[in-house]
Amino acid sequence: MTSFKALLIEKQEDKSFTRRIEQRSLDDLPEGTLLIKVQYSSLNYKDALSATGNPGVSRNFPHTPGIDAAGTVVSCDDNSFKEGDEVIVTGYDLGMNTAGGFGEYIRIPSEWAVAKPVGLSLRESMVIGTAGFTAGLSVQGLVEHGVTPQKGDILVTGATGGVGSVAVALLAKAGYSVVACTGKKKHESFLKTLGASKVITRDELLENKERPMLKEQYAGAVDTVGGEYLAQAIKATQYGGTVTCCGLTASADLNVSVFPFILRGVSLLGIDSVQCPMPPRLRLWDKLASEWKLDCLDDLTEEVNLEAVNEKIDAILEGQISGRTLVNVQ
Ligand code: NDP
Repeated sequence: MTSFKALLIEKQEDKSFTRRIEQRSLDDLPEGTLLIKVQYSSLNYKDALSATGNPGVSRNFPHTPGIDAAGTVVSCDDNSFKEGDEVIVTGYDLGMNTAGGFGEYIRIPSEWAVAKPVGLSLRESMVIGTAGFTAGLSVQGLVEHGVTPQKGDILVTGATGGVGSVAVALLAKAGYSVVACTGKKKHESFLKTLGASKVITRDELLENKERPMLKEQYAGAVDTVGGEYLAQAIKATQYGGTVTCCGLTASADLNVSVFPFILRGVSLLGIDSVQCPMPPRLRLWDKLASEWKLDCLDDLTEEVNLEAVNEKIDAILEGQISGRTLVNVQ
């Protein structure tokens, strides 16, 4: 019987949650058609919510988080993959109530897996991971809504975070002028390395927040934090622009009048990476491996092993992570 290492979250009698590396057996994994030996995972904000028992993410414990996994196929019961194929899994129920990528093996429905595109290594695919894929969906949303580089600056909030940092880099690669909004002004040079042309603080974005509309400053925005930052982004978007919304690290609330929508025709575009259907999912992975392949993936990545994930979970909850945290699972 194969035994393997995994980060295990356990619910204690006092309702607190503990985290430790445990030996698990393949029998501990859920049923599924596809068994994968995981090489890399990555840390996303949602993993930290799962690891701390957030019931909106994970309800069944003991549990292994990790909403991302990349590795090689060990066996596939329905022949949609063959042994040794390299695959990427992001979203669906992985790491939520299905044991996730912070373990050396996962077993899932084969419909959740994507064949790794030739242009990416397994490692690169997990530097991108759910956060980068979500950044890609956001940038694609702007493109599809006619926001071209010629129309003006694009605002990115939560810019040093996982989604934000990849969004800055992708937008710059696609020729956009990027204004990065961050709470970590000390990381200005990091953001400029990724391609931001200007860096503003969260306080600057919140100026005049009592007003229902602001000067038209942005052709579009990629918001990753929600709350009053998203409201300010909508109010400062120029006529016909688009704002994407994917996250809630600041707040799940949105308090904004209808004026930007009815007077400036601004569009608010919701972004979901979890249930993204397979055809657009495959197209975006191919794009991230070719036309949108980033040269700066190493610049925005810190690589850790499973043992070090514990402290990174606390750091991401405190908004202290910059860029992407790659987890080398083996
Ligand atoms: P990270 O923790 O890596 O980044 C979030 C960033 O938000 C931080 O680095 C920080 O950036 C900023 N931030 C943190 N706390 C606050 C605060 N209190 N007020 C304002 N800004 C804050 O998370 P991810 O990038 O992985 O995820 C971002 C959000 O997107 C999360 O809410 C996540 O759940 C969501 N998400 C949604 C997906 C979807 O499919 N819809 C998929 C992936 C993620 P800075 O210091 O630079 O301001």
